[in-house]
Amino acid sequence: MPTTSKSPLSKKETIELKDRLLDERKDLEAQFQELEESTFSANQSEMTGEMGFDEEYADAGTATFEREKDLSLVNNIRDLMERIDKALAKIDEGTYGLCDRCGKPIEKLRLKALPYANLCLKDKQAEERVR
Ligand SMILES: [Zn+2]
Repeated sequence: MPTTSKSPLSKKETIELKDRLLDERKDLEAQFQELEESTFSANQSEMTGEMGFDEEYADAGTATFEREKDLSLVNNIRDLMERIDKALAKIDEGTYGLCDRCGKPIEKLRLKALPYANLCLKDKQAEERVR
């Protein structure tokens, strides 16, 4: 990655986005904890096995579905937290706002809409086409 590119953002803008990233991270952490607790208590009540076999069987489908939904939510949150952490690390390194792939500055509007964006619009679109 070329190191000559400069962040497209001014110092002030970077600080603003950093604040937003930190706020968002706090929110995600709270959500994450809530979900973990609810997943945990769901497992607990299951283990006490108060329901009869038939009822439990009938209920298993929905319970599994609920838990899978929770798990994918947890994964989403974890994924976002990772992206935020990476963005924060890049702010500290002074490489924030540069595309991970081509090293060019990411569009300013894009960063303001998505402070943890790590690819410029062109590379992001290219990536989505591959998937
Ligand atoms: Zn790029």
